[in-house]
Amino acid sequence: MQTLQGIAVSPGVAIGKALVLHSEDFFSVPEQHIAESEVAKEIVRFEEALTYTRAALLAVRKKIADDLGHEHSDIFSAHLLILEDRTLIEDVISQIKKESAVAEYAFSVVLQRYFKAFAHVDDEYLRERVSDIKDVGRRILHSLLGREQDALDHLKEHVIVISHDLSPSETAMMDREHVIAFATDIGGPTSHTAIMARSMEIPAVVGLDHVSTAVVTGAIVVIDGNRGLAIVHPDQATIERCTQEEKRYVEFISELDKLRTLPAETLDGHRVQLLANIEFPAEIPSVLSHGAEGIGLYRTEYFYLNRSDLPTEEEQFGAYREVAERLTPNPVVIRTLDLGGDKFLSSLELPKEMNPFMGWRAIRFCLARTDIFKTQLRAILRASVHGKLKLMYPMISNVSELKQANGLLEEAKMELKREHLPFDDSLDIGAMIEIPSAALITDVLAREVDFFSVGTNDLIQYSLAVDRVNAKIAYLYEPTHPAILRLIKLIVTNAKKAKIWVSVCGEMGGDPAMALLLVGLGIDQLSMGPFALPKVKKVIRLVTMKQAKDMAKRALHFMTGEEIRKFSETKLRSLTPDLLTT
Ligand code: PEP
Ligand code: MG
Repeated sequence: MQTLQGIAVSPGVAIGKALVLHSEDFFSVPEQHIAESEVAKEIVRFEEALTYTRAALLAVRKKIADDLGHEHSDIFSAHLLILEDRTLIEDVISQIKKESAVAEYAFSVVLQRYFKAFAHVDDEYLRERVSDIKDVGRRILHSLLGREQDALDHLKEHVIVISHDLSPSETAMMDREHVIAFATDIGGPTSHTAIMARSMEIPAVVGLDHVSTAVVTGAIVVIDGNRGLAIVHPDQATIERCTQEEKRYVEFISELDKLRTLPAETLDGHRVQLLANIEFPAEIPSVLSHGAEGIGLYRTEYFYLNRSDLPTEEEQFGAYREVAERLTPNPVVIRTLDLGGDKFLSSLELPKEMNPFMGWRAIRFCLARTDIFKTQLRAILRASVHGKLKLMYPMISNVSELKQANGLLEEAKMELKREHLPFDDSLDIGAMIEIPSAALITDVLAREVDFFSVGTNDLIQYSLAVDRVNAKIAYLYEPTHPAILRLIKLIVTNAKKAKIWVSVCGEMGGDPAMALLLVGLGIDQLSMGPFALPKVKKVIRLVTMKQAKDMAKRALHFMTGEEIRKFSETKLRSLTPDLLTT
């Protein structure tokens, strides 16, 4: 039995058989050998992977050339040349022969050798070639390891997925019936992969460092999403203890769900609106069963992931309309496309950036690709007559972006008027406040919108300069850092002055102890993963508004994030001890 400690990102306990997905990271392809008689077959497999990758690259190059022009597709011509590099190919083949190694391992060994040789080269051109080799290499590995993706697509029994990393798009594709938990070597608590696990309501642990090499497919593992543990080959006593723990957790959750029909109201009658965050319309049943009063964040970018084309206006209209209708008369806040960071669109094959979270993404991308943006705006506007839709823009950093986005919205409205297509002309427009510069100028931004929605996931990462997907620095990712509370207080003050409402839709709002602080700071609405709603409702119903305000006031006087965290957890424990252990 081996116990690994990581970061708990989605609660619950699961026991089951592991399905290990080998990542396309050249440094963690496990060493595997074959019988000498299998060598020829392995070489054919490698050559097939080259052929397959070539066909895929040709298709991508054509698509990019058609959509964006030849200057953007040239990179793929360079990639195609690498595929024809005989030295590289021969090196891999001789490695397969020499070591009787599986193709993926031989390939990763050769690539590592190349990277080592290039590591100290100072030439910009050569460095770029290394990055091209990495890109192509990843594709070839993906094709060699493709059988695992197939395995994931055709699951027949419950599995616990173990991987070095999982992208949000891979997580989104997981078969919810059969994947009962997952665990990864890397990742942070507010990565979109972690957020997906919580929406899928399956236990998950990230940042386990080496779980993907410590476990083999078929091994029994326990994933304890409450304590952040992965237990490999558990003994009988551990299995029994964890089964009990799982049972206790399920009972605890069903007890909480009894609050479903009760209002989120403090003891002295202050109403807080509790809404849900979704990534797909398929999550609506969960939104309704957990008693949400609407959807406060619909992350529409998932619509664009895992497909080779862009969604059309009609398709988007259909999806937004469905969500609007099923939630009627409750509101649905649709966030416009927020790609980038850890979410990439497979259809666009955007160039890799040094700092993806700070790069050409979200509203910046939409303002440059007005064709894609306007298509979405038109779809949202058209769906707005089918329910109570609101719209908000992600990653606003200055007034100009907000004005440009609103300008394009006006253009979309004019077009629809000309085409005699109906829309709700008074739909509320909001700005996400998730960049410190935006938080500091909320007095000015408030003039352009009807509401603010604070994206604490990003606001924390940008304010504290802590990458939200990096497990190594997760200890610095502090929602309770005094800087964060001060920024939120400023946002609320400016929103109140301008008489607009303000919500929090980051993960912080779904943490019961943090939710009390946010309510005390004057936040009107909290939007969170549906599963978190009953817990937050429970604590709101246990305090008076005066208590919440006093708590926020006291918290603002502490000097460190740790003091504020301990203070709010102690408060929560005194109100209801059971919420802290889950
Ligand atoms: C946020 O940043 O807090 C947010 C809600 O948006 P996302 O998590 O999708 O970046
Ligand atoms: Mg964000």
